[in-house]
Amino acid sequence: ESVGWLVRLRQGLAKTGTGIKHVFIEHKVDEALFEQLEDALLLADVGVNATAQVMEKVRARVKKERIDDAKNVKQVVKDVLVEILKPLEKVLDVDAHLPLVLMIAGVNGAGKTTSIGKLTHHLQQSGKSIVLAAGDTFRAAAREQLAVWGERNGVTVIAQESGDPAAVVFDAIASAQAKKTNVVIADTAGRLPTQLHLMDELKKIKRVADKSMAGAPHEVILVLDGSIGQNALMQVKAFDEAVGLTGLIVTKLDGSAKGGVLAALAVDRQIPVYFIGVGEGVHDLQTFDAVEFVDALLD
Ligand code: GDP
Repeated sequence: ESVGWLVRLRQGLAKTGTGIKHVFIEHKVDEALFEQLEDALLLADVGVNATAQVMEKVRARVKKERIDDAKNVKQVVKDVLVEILKPLEKVLDVDAHLPLVLMIAGVNGAGKTTSIGKLTHHLQQSGKSIVLAAGDTFRAAAREQLAVWGERNGVTVIAQESGDPAAVVFDAIASAQAKKTNVVIADTAGRLPTQLHLMDELKKIKRVADKSMAGAPHEVILVLDGSIGQNALMQVKAFDEAVGLTGLIVTKLDGSAKGGVLAALAVDRQIPVYFIGVGEGVHDLQTFDAVEFVDALLD
């Protein structure tokens, strides 16, 4: 089971990786190699800015180290990608506050509900108690889904039939404080049925959480679909500018994601990746490890 996810990550990234690896097969170290590598990186969703940065570093190192074998250029590419991705590694400090209040944002379909379930399981495995706040009061299905997750995992879910999401989060924090629950995971809406602005609602939840417990939410985490390409950058920018993101969960890296988007994110704005989603099951949440990730992409 422990290696199963890595296999799925490798399979998920295989197509992308093949595109890059192909460049190094029986190729001389010349301008054509660099051009093909550049194209492959762009196709892998690395993005224009990050690709330029990778290419500059790779060219400089190949020149400096007088590398004349394409296979060794591949190692340089791996090293450069690891260097770029390393700053995204960060472990969620669950014991920083009691309760630790996590606000989870993300557009519908990104994998928010699934990720909350996985995260709950992950935290329970390390002995933490959790209360879930069903802050997506617009999707009845989301509330029900969360209730099912809660029941299955023996976790309290605070919900209101047609309530104010900020009030739900306020109550969940108060409940956690009273019961000394370790972690509050607050779900939020991914889309609103009215003209009401999503970002305004998230801002309100933040304000009200802080009223319930000064300093809360301690983490604002965006669940990001890893398979949406460069749109991921715009999504991260929009949420970060509105509510100040402290971390990401990047999902679906076992599937149609190209993986390179993480390098694009790392160059665009360095928001830590607390976890990656590598499947639909409850165990399929892993901490992000740059070396592991690049190996899965290029080996
Ligand atoms: P939400 O609308 O953001 O709450 O999204 P859901 O949690 O309902 O997930 C949307 C779909 O994506 C569901 O079919 C999930 O099973 C699937 N999904 C979520 N995370 C992952 C992942 O890491 N890998 C794969 N393959 N599927 C995922």
